[in-house]
Amino acid sequence: MNYKIALIRGDGIGPEVVNEAVGVLDTVAEKYGHTIEYVDVLLGGCATDAVGKSYPDGTAEKCRACDAVLLGAVGGPKWGSDKPAEQRPETALLAIRKDLGLYANLRPAVLRPALADACPLKKETAEGGIDLMMVRELTGGIYFGQRERYNTEDRGVECADRMAYSEKEIKRIGRRAFELARLRRKKVSSVDKANVLETSRLWRSVMHRLAQEYPDVQYEDVLVDNCAMQIVRDPGQFDVLVTENMFGDILSDEASMVTGSIGLLPSASIGDSAPGLYEPIHGSAPDIAGQDKANPTATILSVAMMFRYSFQRPEEADAIERAVDEVLAEGWRTADIAKPGERVIGTREMGEKIRERLKSKG
Ligand code: NAD
Repeated sequence: MNYKIALIRGDGIGPEVVNEAVGVLDTVAEKYGHTIEYVDVLLGGCATDAVGKSYPDGTAEKCRACDAVLLGAVGGPKWGSDKPAEQRPETALLAIRKDLGLYANLRPAVLRPALADACPLKKETAEGGIDLMMVRELTGGIYFGQRERYNTEDRGVECADRMAYSEKEIKRIGRRAFELARLRRKKVSSVDKANVLETSRLWRSVMHRLAQEYPDVQYEDVLVDNCAMQIVRDPGQFDVLVTENMFGDILSDEASMVTGSIGLLPSASIGDSAPGLYEPIHGSAPDIAGQDKANPTATILSVAMMFRYSFQRPEEADAIERAVDEVLAEGWRTADIAKPGERVIGTREMGEKIRERLKSKG
Protein backbone atom coordinates (compact mmCIF):
# COMPACT_ATOMS: atom_id res chain seq x y z
CA MET A 1 0.00 0.00 0.00
CA ASN A 2 1.00 3.66 -0.41
CA TYR A 3 0.43 5.89 2.58
CA LYS A 4 0.81 9.64 2.94
CA ILE A 5 1.41 10.72 6.53
CA ALA A 6 1.45 14.28 7.90
CA LEU A 7 4.14 14.76 10.55
CA ILE A 8 3.58 17.42 13.19
CA ARG A 9 6.84 17.26 15.10
CA GLY A 10 5.94 20.17 17.38
CA ASP A 11 7.91 21.45 20.36
CA GLY A 12 10.10 20.18 23.20
CA ILE A 13 10.61 16.42 22.96
CA GLY A 14 8.10 16.25 20.05
CA PRO A 15 10.73 16.14 17.26
CA GLU A 16 12.82 13.55 19.14
CA VAL A 17 9.98 11.08 19.68
CA VAL A 18 8.57 11.59 16.18
CA ASN A 19 12.01 10.79 14.71
CA GLU A 20 11.99 7.39 16.40
CA ALA A 21 8.41 6.72 15.33
CA VAL A 22 9.26 7.58 11.73
CA GLY A 23 12.09 5.06 11.95
CA VAL A 24 9.51 2.46 13.02
CA LEU A 25 7.18 3.46 10.17
CA ASP A 26 10.03 3.00 7.71
CA THR A 27 10.89 -0.40 9.18
CA VAL A 28 7.26 -1.54 8.94
CA ALA A 29 7.02 -0.22 5.38
CA GLU A 30 10.09 -2.16 4.33
CA LYS A 31 8.99 -5.34 6.05
CA TYR A 32 5.41 -5.36 4.75
CA GLY A 33 6.05 -3.82 1.31
CA HIS A 34 4.38 -0.42 1.83
CA THR A 35 5.61 2.94 0.63
CA ILE A 36 5.21 5.98 2.84
CA GLU A 37 5.37 9.64 1.86
CA TYR A 38 5.81 12.16 4.69
CA VAL A 39 4.53 15.72 4.69
CA ASP A 40 5.94 18.00 7.39
CA VAL A 41 3.29 20.26 8.93
CA LEU A 42 4.18 23.19 11.17
CA LEU A 43 1.99 23.57 14.27
CA GLY A 44 2.47 24.72 17.87
CA GLY A 45 5.05 26.98 19.45
CA CYS A 46 7.50 26.36 16.60
CA ALA A 47 4.86 27.68 14.19
CA THR A 48 4.38 30.79 16.33
CA ASP A 49 8.13 31.38 16.14
CA ALA A 50 8.23 30.80 12.39
CA VAL A 51 5.08 32.54 11.13
CA GLY A 52 3.55 34.34 14.14
CA LYS A 53 0.66 31.92 14.81
CA SER A 54 0.47 28.47 16.28
CA TYR A 55 -2.05 27.27 13.70
CA PRO A 56 -0.83 28.55 10.34
CA ASP A 57 -3.32 29.04 7.49
CA GLY A 58 -3.79 25.90 5.41
CA THR A 59 -2.81 23.47 8.19
CA ALA A 60 -6.08 21.53 8.10
CA GLU A 61 -6.00 21.31 4.28
CA LYS A 62 -2.45 19.91 4.34
CA CYS A 63 -3.52 17.28 6.87
CA ARG A 64 -6.71 16.43 4.99
CA ALA A 65 -4.61 15.59 1.94
CA CYS A 66 -2.93 12.80 3.97
CA ASP A 67 -4.11 9.37 5.16
CA ALA A 68 -3.15 10.00 8.79
CA VAL A 69 -1.45 12.56 11.01
CA LEU A 70 1.30 11.80 13.54
CA LEU A 71 1.87 14.45 16.21
CA GLY A 72 4.72 14.61 18.75
CA ALA A 73 3.72 17.24 21.29
CA VAL A 74 3.31 21.00 21.38
CA GLY A 75 3.73 23.69 24.01
CA GLY A 76 6.26 25.09 26.42
CA PRO A 77 6.84 27.97 28.81
CA LYS A 78 7.95 30.23 25.96
CA TRP A 79 4.38 30.33 24.60
CA GLY A 80 2.52 30.60 27.91
CA SER A 81 -0.91 31.94 28.86
CA ASP A 82 0.34 35.55 28.75
CA LYS A 83 0.51 35.26 24.93
CA PRO A 84 -2.46 36.06 22.67
CA ALA A 85 -4.64 33.03 21.86
CA GLU A 86 -3.44 32.72 18.25
CA GLN A 87 0.16 32.30 19.46
CA ARG A 88 -0.59 29.64 22.06
CA PRO A 89 0.04 26.00 21.10
CA GLU A 90 -3.11 24.73 22.90
CA THR A 91 -5.25 26.88 20.57
CA ALA A 92 -3.76 25.03 17.62
CA LEU A 93 -4.48 21.62 19.14
CA LEU A 94 -8.15 22.42 19.76
CA ALA A 95 -8.44 23.95 16.26
CA ILE A 96 -6.96 21.00 14.38
CA ARG A 97 -9.16 18.49 16.21
CA LYS A 98 -12.25 20.59 15.50
CA ASP A 99 -11.33 21.32 11.85
CA LEU A 100 -10.67 17.66 11.09
CA GLY A 101 -13.90 16.65 12.86
CA LEU A 102 -12.01 14.35 15.24
CA TYR A 103 -14.80 13.74 17.70
CA ALA A 104 -13.58 10.48 19.22
CA ASN A 105 -10.45 10.22 21.32
CA LEU A 106 -9.26 6.67 21.93
CA ARG A 107 -6.85 6.12 24.76
CA PRO A 108 -5.88 2.59 25.62
CA ALA A 109 -4.57 2.13 29.14
CA VAL A 110 -2.63 -1.11 29.14
CA LEU A 111 -0.38 -2.36 31.89
CA ARG A 112 2.49 -3.88 29.88
CA PRO A 113 3.41 -7.25 31.45
CA ALA A 114 7.11 -6.38 31.89
CA LEU A 115 6.20 -3.26 33.86
CA ALA A 116 3.60 -4.69 36.22
CA ASP A 117 5.67 -3.54 39.18
CA ALA A 118 5.45 0.10 37.98
CA CYS A 119 1.70 0.00 38.66
CA PRO A 120 0.96 2.08 41.78
CA LEU A 121 -2.05 -0.12 42.67
CA LYS A 122 -2.06 -3.14 44.97
CA LYS A 123 0.01 -6.07 43.70
CA GLU A 124 -3.00 -8.37 43.35
CA THR A 125 -4.88 -5.69 41.37
CA ALA A 126 -1.92 -5.25 38.98
CA GLU A 127 -1.58 -9.00 38.58
CA GLY A 128 -5.19 -9.16 37.39
CA GLY A 129 -4.05 -7.10 34.36
CA ILE A 130 -5.27 -3.76 32.99
CA ASP A 131 -6.36 -3.40 29.39
CA LEU A 132 -9.04 -0.78 28.97
CA MET A 133 -9.94 1.62 26.17
CA MET A 134 -11.16 5.06 27.11
CA VAL A 135 -13.34 6.60 24.40
CA ARG A 136 -13.69 10.31 25.06
CA GLU A 137 -15.98 12.71 23.18
CA LEU A 138 -13.60 15.37 21.93
CA THR A 139 -15.38 18.20 20.14
CA GLY A 140 -18.40 19.00 22.29
CA GLY A 141 -19.47 19.65 25.85
CA ILE A 142 -18.22 22.26 28.25
CA TYR A 143 -14.82 22.77 26.57
CA PHE A 144 -16.58 24.16 23.53
CA GLY A 145 -19.58 25.82 25.20
CA GLN A 146 -20.25 29.52 25.60
CA ARG A 147 -18.24 31.24 28.31
CA GLU A 148 -19.53 34.13 30.38
CA ARG A 149 -17.91 36.48 32.86
CA TYR A 150 -19.80 39.37 34.43
CA ASN A 151 -19.89 41.55 37.51
CA THR A 152 -22.67 41.16 40.04
CA GLU A 153 -23.75 43.71 42.59
CA ASP A 154 -23.34 41.57 45.68
CA ARG A 155 -21.22 38.52 44.72
CA GLY A 156 -18.30 40.04 42.84
CA VAL A 157 -17.34 38.55 39.48
CA GLU A 158 -19.38 35.53 38.36
CA CYS A 159 -18.53 33.13 35.53
CA ALA A 160 -20.40 30.41 33.67
CA ASP A 161 -19.39 27.70 31.18
CA ARG A 162 -22.15 26.12 29.14
CA MET A 163 -22.26 22.37 28.62
CA ALA A 164 -24.37 21.16 25.71
CA TYR A 165 -24.71 17.84 23.91
CA SER A 166 -26.98 16.84 21.06
CA GLU A 167 -28.40 13.38 20.39
CA LYS A 168 -26.35 13.30 17.18
CA GLU A 169 -23.07 13.94 19.00
CA ILE A 170 -23.81 11.29 21.62
CA LYS A 171 -24.94 8.71 19.11
CA ARG A 172 -21.82 8.90 16.94
CA ILE A 173 -19.40 8.56 19.86
CA GLY A 174 -21.55 5.81 21.37
CA ARG A 175 -21.51 3.87 18.13
CA ARG A 176 -17.70 4.10 18.04
CA ALA A 177 -17.55 2.62 21.53
CA PHE A 178 -19.85 -0.31 20.72
CA GLU A 179 -17.99 -1.05 17.48
CA LEU A 180 -14.66 -1.02 19.32
CA ALA A 181 -16.02 -3.28 22.05
CA ARG A 182 -16.93 -5.82 19.37
CA LEU A 183 -13.23 -5.99 18.44
CA ARG A 184 -12.26 -6.42 22.11
CA ARG A 185 -13.92 -8.10 25.11
CA LYS A 186 -17.44 -6.92 24.19
CA LYS A 187 -18.24 -4.73 27.16
CA VAL A 188 -19.17 -1.01 27.20
CA SER A 189 -19.32 1.06 30.38
CA SER A 190 -20.91 4.45 29.75
CA VAL A 191 -19.88 7.12 32.24
CA ASP A 192 -22.18 10.00 33.13
CA LYS A 193 -23.63 12.04 35.97
CA ALA A 194 -27.27 11.35 35.18
CA ASN A 195 -28.35 11.82 38.80
CA VAL A 196 -27.53 15.55 38.43
CA LEU A 197 -26.94 16.74 34.85
CA GLU A 198 -29.52 17.06 32.07
CA THR A 199 -26.82 16.44 29.42
CA SER A 200 -26.03 13.18 31.20
CA ARG A 201 -29.70 12.12 31.22
CA LEU A 202 -29.79 12.60 27.45
CA TRP A 203 -26.44 10.80 27.15
CA ARG A 204 -27.79 7.83 29.08
CA SER A 205 -31.02 7.55 27.10
CA VAL A 206 -29.16 7.63 23.76
CA MET A 207 -26.69 5.01 25.01
CA HIS A 208 -29.58 2.75 26.12
CA ARG A 209 -31.12 2.96 22.66
CA LEU A 210 -27.77 2.11 21.05
CA ALA A 211 -27.22 -0.80 23.44
CA GLN A 212 -30.36 -2.43 21.96
CA GLU A 213 -28.62 -2.49 18.57
CA TYR A 214 -25.63 -4.35 20.04
CA PRO A 215 -27.14 -7.26 21.98
CA ASP A 216 -23.81 -9.11 21.78
CA VAL A 217 -22.10 -6.33 23.79
CA GLN A 218 -22.55 -6.19 27.56
CA TYR A 219 -23.58 -2.68 28.64
CA GLU A 220 -23.58 -0.80 31.93
CA ASP A 221 -24.05 2.78 33.21
CA VAL A 222 -21.44 4.07 35.66
CA LEU A 223 -21.64 7.37 37.52
CA VAL A 224 -18.48 9.40 36.99
CA ASP A 225 -17.57 9.61 40.69
CA ASN A 226 -17.93 5.85 41.09
CA CYS A 227 -15.92 5.33 37.89
CA ALA A 228 -13.01 7.39 39.28
CA MET A 229 -13.04 5.14 42.32
CA GLN A 230 -13.37 1.87 40.36
CA ILE A 231 -10.38 2.74 38.14
CA VAL A 232 -8.09 2.60 41.17
CA ARG A 233 -9.99 -0.18 42.96
CA ASP A 234 -10.42 -2.68 40.13
CA PRO A 235 -9.52 -1.39 36.63
CA GLY A 236 -9.55 -4.94 35.27
CA GLN A 237 -13.38 -4.88 35.29
CA PHE A 238 -13.43 -2.36 32.38
CA ASP A 239 -13.11 -3.01 28.67
CA VAL A 240 -14.41 0.06 26.75
CA LEU A 241 -15.30 3.18 28.76
CA VAL A 242 -17.18 5.88 26.87
CA THR A 243 -17.78 9.36 28.20
CA GLU A 244 -18.17 13.05 27.44
CA ASN A 245 -15.30 15.48 26.93
CA MET A 246 -14.51 16.78 30.44
CA PHE A 247 -15.14 13.52 32.31
CA GLY A 248 -12.97 11.78 29.72
CA ASP A 249 -10.17 14.31 30.10
CA ILE A 250 -9.95 13.64 33.82
CA LEU A 251 -10.60 9.89 33.83
CA SER A 252 -8.16 9.16 31.01
CA ASP A 253 -5.33 10.80 32.96
CA GLU A 254 -6.29 8.76 36.00
CA ALA A 255 -6.40 5.55 33.95
CA SER A 256 -3.03 6.31 32.40
CA MET A 257 -1.34 6.72 35.76
CA VAL A 258 -2.41 3.30 36.99
CA THR A 259 -0.39 1.79 34.14
CA GLY A 260 2.94 3.26 35.23
CA SER A 261 4.55 5.82 32.96
CA ILE A 262 3.16 8.62 30.86
CA GLY A 263 5.92 7.84 28.33
CA LEU A 264 4.21 4.61 27.30
CA LEU A 265 0.69 5.68 26.41
CA PRO A 266 -0.53 6.36 22.88
CA SER A 267 -3.78 7.89 21.67
CA ALA A 268 -5.84 8.26 18.52
CA SER A 269 -8.34 10.95 17.61
CA ILE A 270 -10.68 9.93 14.85
CA GLY A 271 -13.68 11.26 12.95
CA ASP A 272 -15.85 9.95 10.15
CA SER A 273 -13.94 10.97 7.05
CA ALA A 274 -10.85 13.08 7.77
CA PRO A 275 -7.51 11.43 8.56
CA GLY A 276 -7.06 10.26 12.14
CA LEU A 277 -4.57 12.03 14.38
CA TYR A 278 -2.20 9.87 16.40
CA GLU A 279 -0.16 11.20 19.31
CA PRO A 280 1.35 10.21 22.64
CA ILE A 281 -0.70 11.38 25.62
CA HIS A 282 2.27 13.17 27.15
CA GLY A 283 3.17 16.79 26.52
CA SER A 284 6.34 18.40 25.21
CA ALA A 285 8.31 17.76 28.45
CA PRO A 286 10.44 20.93 28.22
CA ASP A 287 12.42 19.75 31.28
CA ILE A 288 14.08 16.95 29.29
CA ALA A 289 13.85 18.30 25.71
CA GLY A 290 16.92 17.93 23.52
CA GLN A 291 18.70 15.62 25.99
CA ASP A 292 17.98 12.20 24.44
CA LYS A 293 16.04 11.31 27.61
CA ALA A 294 12.44 11.10 26.34
CA ASN A 295 10.74 7.73 26.09
CA PRO A 296 9.65 7.35 22.43
CA THR A 297 7.44 4.30 23.17
CA ALA A 298 4.13 6.19 23.43
CA THR A 299 4.67 7.73 19.99
CA ILE A 300 5.74 4.37 18.55
CA LEU A 301 2.59 2.75 20.00
CA SER A 302 0.60 5.62 18.43
CA VAL A 303 1.94 4.39 15.08
CA ALA A 304 0.58 0.92 15.95
CA MET A 305 -2.84 2.54 16.53
CA MET A 306 -2.52 4.28 13.15
CA PHE A 307 -2.07 0.93 11.42
CA ARG A 308 -4.97 -0.55 13.37
CA TYR A 309 -7.56 2.22 13.06
CA SER A 310 -6.67 4.31 9.98
CA PHE A 311 -5.11 1.67 7.74
CA GLN A 312 -7.05 -1.41 8.97
CA ARG A 313 -3.75 -3.32 9.18
CA PRO A 314 -3.91 -5.21 12.51
CA GLU A 315 -0.95 -7.39 11.58
CA GLU A 316 1.44 -4.42 11.46
CA ALA A 317 -0.12 -2.99 14.65
CA ASP A 318 0.35 -6.29 16.49
CA ALA A 319 3.96 -6.54 15.29
CA ILE A 320 4.82 -3.08 16.67
CA GLU A 321 3.12 -3.78 20.01
CA ARG A 322 4.89 -7.13 20.28
CA ALA A 323 8.26 -5.53 19.53
CA VAL A 324 7.68 -2.99 22.32
CA ASP A 325 6.69 -5.71 24.79
CA GLU A 326 9.76 -7.78 23.89
CA VAL A 327 12.16 -4.86 24.31
CA LEU A 328 10.63 -4.12 27.71
CA ALA A 329 10.75 -7.80 28.67
CA GLU A 330 14.45 -7.84 27.78
CA GLY A 331 14.88 -5.14 30.41
CA TRP A 332 15.60 -2.09 28.26
CA ARG A 333 14.49 1.06 30.09
CA THR A 334 14.43 4.80 29.48
CA ALA A 335 14.87 6.95 32.60
CA ASP A 336 11.12 7.42 33.21
CA ILE A 337 10.49 3.67 33.64
CA ALA A 338 13.81 2.58 35.17
CA LYS A 339 14.02 1.45 38.78
CA PRO A 340 16.94 2.76 40.86
CA GLY A 341 20.14 1.03 39.80
CA GLU A 342 18.76 -0.18 36.44
CA ARG A 343 20.72 0.62 33.29
CA VAL A 344 19.13 3.51 31.39
CA ILE A 345 19.14 4.03 27.63
CA GLY A 346 18.21 7.16 25.66
CA THR A 347 15.49 8.06 23.18
CA ARG A 348 17.46 7.00 20.11
CA GLU A 349 18.64 3.69 21.55
CA MET A 350 15.11 2.77 22.68
CA GLY A 351 13.83 3.48 19.16
CA GLU A 352 16.65 1.42 17.68
CA LYS A 353 15.95 -1.55 19.99
CA ILE A 354 12.27 -1.59 18.96
CA ARG A 355 13.19 -1.40 15.27
CA GLU A 356 15.71 -4.24 15.68
CA ARG A 357 13.01 -6.46 17.22
CA LEU A 358 10.63 -5.59 14.38
CA LYS A 359 13.23 -6.48 11.76
CA SER A 360 14.23 -9.72 13.43
CA LYS A 361 10.72 -11.21 13.34
CA GLY A 362 9.54 -13.45 10.47
P1 NAD B 1 4.36 16.68 30.12
O1 NAD B 1 3.61 15.47 29.74
O2 NAD B 1 5.07 17.39 29.03
O3 NAD B 1 5.44 16.33 31.26
C1 NAD B 1 5.06 15.84 32.54
C2 NAD B 1 6.25 15.06 33.15
O4 NAD B 1 6.39 13.83 32.44
C3 NAD B 1 7.59 15.78 32.98
O5 NAD B 1 8.38 15.52 34.12
C4 NAD B 1 8.22 15.14 31.77
O6 NAD B 1 9.64 15.14 31.77
C5 NAD B 1 7.67 13.73 31.84
N1 NAD B 1 7.49 13.14 30.52
C6 NAD B 1 6.53 13.47 29.61
N2 NAD B 1 6.68 12.75 28.49
C7 NAD B 1 7.75 11.95 28.68
C8 NAD B 1 8.40 10.98 27.88
N3 NAD B 1 8.01 10.67 26.63
N4 NAD B 1 9.49 10.37 28.40
C9 NAD B 1 9.92 10.63 29.65
N5 NAD B 1 9.34 11.53 30.46
C10 NAD B 1 8.26 12.20 29.98
O7 NAD B 1 3.31 17.64 30.83
P2 NAD B 1 3.47 19.15 31.35
O8 NAD B 1 4.83 19.32 31.97
O9 NAD B 1 2.26 19.42 32.12
O10 NAD B 1 3.40 20.04 30.04
C11 NAD B 1 4.53 20.52 29.32
C12 NAD B 1 4.03 21.22 28.06
O11 NAD B 1 3.37 20.27 27.21
C13 NAD B 1 3.00 22.31 28.35
O12 NAD B 1 3.27 23.40 27.50
C14 NAD B 1 1.68 21.66 28.00
O13 NAD B 1 0.71 22.60 27.59
C15 NAD B 1 2.09 20.79 26.85
N6 NAD B 1 1.18 19.63 26.60
C16 NAD B 1 0.99 19.29 25.31
C17 NAD B 1 0.21 18.19 25.00
C18 NAD B 1 0.06 17.82 23.55
O14 NAD B 1 0.83 18.27 22.72
N7 NAD B 1 -0.92 17.00 23.20
C19 NAD B 1 -0.35 17.43 26.01
C20 NAD B 1 -0.10 17.78 27.35
C21 NAD B 1 0.68 18.89 27.63
